[in-house]
Amino acid sequence: MNPFYTDYSEYLGGIFPGVKVQKISVDAGRSCPNRDGTIGRGGCIYCDNRSFTPGYCSGSNDGILSQIAKGKGFFARKYPEMKYLVYFQSYTFTHGASTAEAAEMVRTAIGTENTVGIIIGTRPDCVPDEMLGMLAGFNREKPVFIEFGAESSCDATLGRINRGHTWADTTDAVRRASSLGIRCGLHLIAGLPGETLADAIETVKKSGELPIDSIKLHQLQIIKGTELWRQWKDGAADIRIPSLEEYVDFCAEAVDAVPRHIAIERFLSQAPPDMVEAPCWRLKNYQFTDILMKRLKEHRSY
Ligand code: SF4
Repeated sequence: MNPFYTDYSEYLGGIFPGVKVQKISVDAGRSCPNRDGTIGRGGCIYCDNRSFTPGYCSGSNDGILSQIAKGKGFFARKYPEMKYLVYFQSYTFTHGASTAEAAEMVRTAIGTENTVGIIIGTRPDCVPDEMLGMLAGFNREKPVFIEFGAESSCDATLGRINRGHTWADTTDAVRRASSLGIRCGLHLIAGLPGETLADAIETVKKSGELPIDSIKLHQLQIIKGTELWRQWKDGAADIRIPSLEEYVDFCAEAVDAVPRHIAIERFLSQAPPDMVEAPCWRLKNYQFTDILMKRLKEHRSY
């Protein structure tokens, strides 16, 4: 057990005792309402979906059964006993399809061999009650998790990065989903334009007051070719990438701010290095966690 916070493996171990569980990402072929004009165009200024799609997930041209099989094959070579969470990660799963169509896809995924649950990646403004009711139904069969892209609790920041939703949308979505028994996680980004790391700690604290089960923390990455990258190149005064040292300190403070009943899934985003303009830390998630654990131990002994 991690002495400082509830890590994701401990969290999953509580839900799936004695079972080794791995997420496998699939692309359901959805679009994003912040790109297709439903909510906005151009998307969030930092977003390039390719930066968070794993290599084995070959895209929507490959049906989800094939993607799931490839993903399982990738991990099963090393761990034949592994069980899986099918993760609808790309774009916005609950957008661009009817509830019946989304249900069909969830039913297909949840019924595959060795699949023990489903994770839905979505935006907080794309979960109508009917969609949540459908997911709650599947949640009675096998665990369904929703991961909401919240990013910040500051509406000015959300406007600055062109998210197209507010913090109130996040709190409303989380409350409605959790009231149906669905486990909720929030995705947060530290170091967004116009924010200090102290502002990001405020977001972590506000998140900790919501009925959520997990938090995924990321440093802001400047991905080449994005609008954020263009603004950074143009010298936008409100974009400042923290040093590794500053980010480690931020994560140590975040650990203290997150209540123990909420798991922290990760602290680092790892886009392919050739896509990243900054920061160039070149660390794997486990390497960063080692640095952070050392920092937390020093902090506690101090
Ligand atoms: S981060 Fe998500 S909501 Fe924003 S543009 Fe990318 S896919 Fe769309």
